[in-house]
Amino acid sequence: MSKPRITVAKGDGIGPEIMDATLRIMEAAGAELDYDFIDIGEKVYLSGNTAGITTESWDILRRNKVFLKAPITTPQGGGYKSLNVTIRKSLGLFANIRPCKSLSPFIESKHPEMDVVIVRENEEDLYAGIEHRQTTDVFQCLKLITIPGTQKIIRYAFEYARNNGRKKVTCMVKDNIMKLTDGLFSSVFKEMALEYPEIESELKIIDIGAALLADQPEQFDVVVTLNLYGDIISDIAAQITGSVGLGGSSNIGKGFAMFEAVHGSAPDISGKNMANPSGLISAAVLMLQHLGQLDVAMNIANAWYKTIEDGIHTGDIYRSHSKQKVGTREFADAVIARLGQMPSEISPLKLNKDDFRPIIIPEYSRPKHDKVLVGADLFIDNSHLTPVQLGALLETHAGDDLKLKMITNRGVKVYPDGLPETFCTDHWRCRFVNKHNPKDVNSMKAVEKETIPQLMMALLKEGIDVVKTENLYYFNDKLAFSLGQGE
Ligand code: NAD
Repeated sequence: MSKPRITVAKGDGIGPEIMDATLRIMEAAGAELDYDFIDIGEKVYLSGNTAGITTESWDILRRNKVFLKAPITTPQGGGYKSLNVTIRKSLGLFANIRPCKSLSPFIESKHPEMDVVIVRENEEDLYAGIEHRQTTDVFQCLKLITIPGTQKIIRYAFEYARNNGRKKVTCMVKDNIMKLTDGLFSSVFKEMALEYPEIESELKIIDIGAALLADQPEQFDVVVTLNLYGDIISDIAAQITGSVGLGGSSNIGKGFAMFEAVHGSAPDISGKNMANPSGLISAAVLMLQHLGQLDVAMNIANAWYKTIEDGIHTGDIYRSHSKQKVGTREFADAVIARLGQMPSEISPLKLNKDDFRPIIIPEYSRPKHDKVLVGADLFIDNSHLTPVQLGALLETHAGDDLKLKMITNRGVKVYPDGLPETFCTDHWRCRFVNKHNPKDVNSMKAVEKETIPQLMMALLKEGIDVVKTENLYYFNDKLAFSLGQGE
């Protein structure tokens, strides 16, 4: 069988030093790989390419499908796009995986038993970058959670757990507040967990989940969560292992994967043979696992643990447990000298070949849904009418088919029957539904599509500033929007 061909970028700053160290270790451990090297980062940016990567390099990346990347320097000043974000979005790298393991007592940590992997959804959530200012007072960011995006990340978390001999997957959400978006994430999680009976599954609300992760990380094994929560807890988890500088991460897509250290290009120590290559070594271990070269991955990880245990440390981790201060090259030599050895105190990396299978994410098949329009929320910019005045005015324009059900301000009902104490901004959500609805929100009647633009035209003529509308739907007879507080 031919060797897999991967793309390698040596990056900027300490990048070339830590990449050379990592490639030497992989070669000595017998990794079966061929390489294509590409230039990315500072040099490319400064040549006038605002993306930091040339078209030829893109072609190589896309052809090889696996990318080992050293950190790069994004030049100061405007106009330069983040290469990581470009790669992640263009290639659909939906999962960010960050293992966070304590190497205590050799690297000080308050949590010696910690060994957690954070699986963060990487493409959706508030990171879609869809933001608007709608009124003088109010700014909005759209949180988008999709069924295919959620299915992919949760499937990946369970498959990763199975391949890596992990026993438990914890899902962290805020579905008690965001019942539709986070609720989708937790319901897909509960459903999919049934397919993995050998893996324990649990749900935690993100606030207490994050607190427990920081206080008792040894309770957790694999944690899967949405993009923003994952961004925050993956840094918390890395930090409390004792050193962010040792971490590697992978970004996984369908048919494409990128592996890198968590840290940056450290220009302050570049070219001095001082950098710790451990983050990139960890990333290489993740890559070898991904490629199914489990023996090589275990060999490198365990030799690296042994080096740390033997107190052979670079300056950044040189403390009371350290025995010998070494540079980047000497650290790599020490790892190579320990290939084939096992750590005695740090728990070794053990991967079970029989459990391992390439992670295949099934094609998404869109379920059929019966979608019925039952009303609309009109968002209105108003700074002079009181809720009662606005309500009365809107009621007169609701037309023959619609009625004003309520007005909320920042989600709190202010009409009808609002409280004078409620603080109001200039941004009013006005809910219109079928005039002939029964009281029960679960049996609302359909409305004709044209009635909504007709209503908007009537309000426009009255000088009312509608800044946005959201249609209200039932999907398969189920309410598909949140109710207002007090509705
Ligand atoms: P940094 O991680 O490069 O450095 C922070 C501190 O940690 C520095 O004191 C540095 O010397 C030290 N450090 C980092 N890695 C180390 C290692 N392997 N061994 C020993 N010490 C290490 O963060 P920064 O200074 O904020 O950023 C520097 C540059 O890196 C910036 O241009 C930034 O945009 C870029 N960056 C790139 C990536 C990436 O490519 N994935 C990630 C983060 C930052």
